[in-house]
Amino acid sequence: MVSRVIPVDPFDLVLFGATGDLAKRKILPGLYRRFHDGQMPEEARIIGAARSELDDDGFRALVAEAIAEFVDERRSDPKMIEAFLQRLSYVPVDARGSDGWQQLAGKMQPGRIRAFYLSVAPALFGDLAERLHQHGIADETSRIVLEKPFGRDLASARALNATLAEHFQESQIYRIDHYLGKETVQNLMAVRFANILFEPLWNSQYVDHVQITVAETVGVGGRGSYYDKSGAMRDMVQNHLMQLLCLIAMEPPYHFDPDAVRDEKLKVIRALDPLGPDDLVRGQYRSHQGEPGYLEDAENSASRTESYIALRVHVANWRWKGTPFYLRTGKRLRARASEIAITFKEPPHSIFDEAGGDWRENQLVIRLQPNEGMNLKVMIKEPGPGGMRLVQVPLDMSFAEALGENGEDIPDAYERLIMDVIRGNQTLFMRGDEVEAAWAWTDPIIAGWEARGDRPQGYDPGSSGPEDALMLLHRDSRRWREIKE
Ligand code: NAP
Repeated sequence: MVSRVIPVDPFDLVLFGATGDLAKRKILPGLYRRFHDGQMPEEARIIGAARSELDDDGFRALVAEAIAEFVDERRSDPKMIEAFLQRLSYVPVDARGSDGWQQLAGKMQPGRIRAFYLSVAPALFGDLAERLHQHGIADETSRIVLEKPFGRDLASARALNATLAEHFQESQIYRIDHYLGKETVQNLMAVRFANILFEPLWNSQYVDHVQITVAETVGVGGRGSYYDKSGAMRDMVQNHLMQLLCLIAMEPPYHFDPDAVRDEKLKVIRALDPLGPDDLVRGQYRSHQGEPGYLEDAENSASRTESYIALRVHVANWRWKGTPFYLRTGKRLRARASEIAITFKEPPHSIFDEAGGDWRENQLVIRLQPNEGMNLKVMIKEPGPGGMRLVQVPLDMSFAEALGENGEDIPDAYERLIMDVIRGNQTLFMRGDEVEAAWAWTDPIIAGWEARGDRPQGYDPGSSGPEDALMLLHRDSRRWREIKE
């Protein structure tokens, strides 16, 4: 299978925070890959902006280094890199100052798509939005792209939405959740809504439970004091895991249209039951064999912030009444693995006797990383003359193999999302009311554990998380899937 590259229209992309970590690791190498593959037109231009006093050549040197470090060799053609660098320029601006803005305004060309990517701290979003308007740089057709985190609670998310609304229409605002840019996540919608096979079974009558896991092996070292103000609930659940849950649980939208999809996701968030203390487990990784634990990494020996969280969530509607969704995410776990597993119920009656082998539930596993793909576990007869014995086999669909050797042709989530911004397609971006609804559900849960003075339970690095998280499922006579790559 060869993926088709459909070029986008010429654009001017202003990248605020162009000297930052995310720009260097993801955004700029991603733009280069799109250029290399012929999706970014020759006339497109990228204008870097940050406070650092760089000129165009200085910025190009910085981007050349980022490409050398983060782009695979197959795309490291010096002529191609040089052609890309010629699309770049740089303007020093301070989001809170007045210098540089006129120069930036002078660089804008009329009649092109204009996008402003704010890869800066959220505290600067309002300042940048205001100045873009003040200096006539943004107009009613411009697009503004915002990085996470979008607020730290309902009040701050509302305030941010209100500030943005002073300068931009909702149809111009692209709130990034890079999980939504993954090939598999979009494929989830294709599998659900372009096939008749799954949808009739996609409800509490046939689905026993759903597990959503986002496990990381890294700790919070390096950004510990920043992370300590947030924790796994705010950093991962309120946005990424919640979005995955929505895509699994939502009703079919009437059309694959941004607002139709987002309306359905919003209904799921609003249908989430409040959580009680027995529905969640929080953890903190311990120090281990001389390696610092969470408390040392966070530089806060009294910290009660969680580096791990597991939740049992119910979607209170007709489709899902009685089917639990188990969510877990954590740092310093056994393996780096993100997946969604849908476990179906037993057939109502087995015609095979016990000698027929080990019966197991059908399971649809959607892997987000590593090795994006899907895998449907079905029971078949064990091949051979051993009589009617059953065995479970996976029907495997690895996108990496399907789309090119080692999956290198699968665009990174950021690449796909930036191209969607240029195309003006908001389907894979969170709408303001979705973000607010997610915080409205999350806030009381956080307030609950703060009021109770709960402490996260310790867990060993390299493990599957705290003991109590295992018990969360054991109590329901279920088991977590093994965390493995
Ligand atoms: P970073 O490395 O600290 O970069 C921040 C950028 O903002 C730099 O280019 C900095 O450049 C610029 N900047 C700071 N103050 C400024 C001001 N007053 N006016 C104009 N520019 C200013 O941060 P990052 O890791 O790239 O993260 C950027 C955003 O992405 C944040 O919202 C973060 O939460 C989000 N994010 C990051 C990651 C990641 O993996 N890094 C992942 C998800 C989300 P100067 O110092 O030259 O001004």
